[in-house]
Amino acid sequence: MQTTATRAVECPQCAERTRVSIPDEDADLKVSHSVAAYGEQTAVSCSNGHRYWVVVC
Ligand SMILES: [Zn+2]
Repeated sequence: MQTTATRAVECPQCAERTRVSIPDEDADLKVSHSVAAYGEQTAVSCSNGHRYWVVVC
């Protein structure tokens, strides 16, 4: 059974924390300014309007 976990990530520009859903509680997250060429990723908009990507490793 697949459960969905959430993790707080920091915006690379203003350090505002945003909760994102991750497929696996043990997943390693990398914050990226641009779309990565690999891995599963989620686009995040922080409350200050910055947009970045979180890559699940
Ligand atoms: Zn931000």
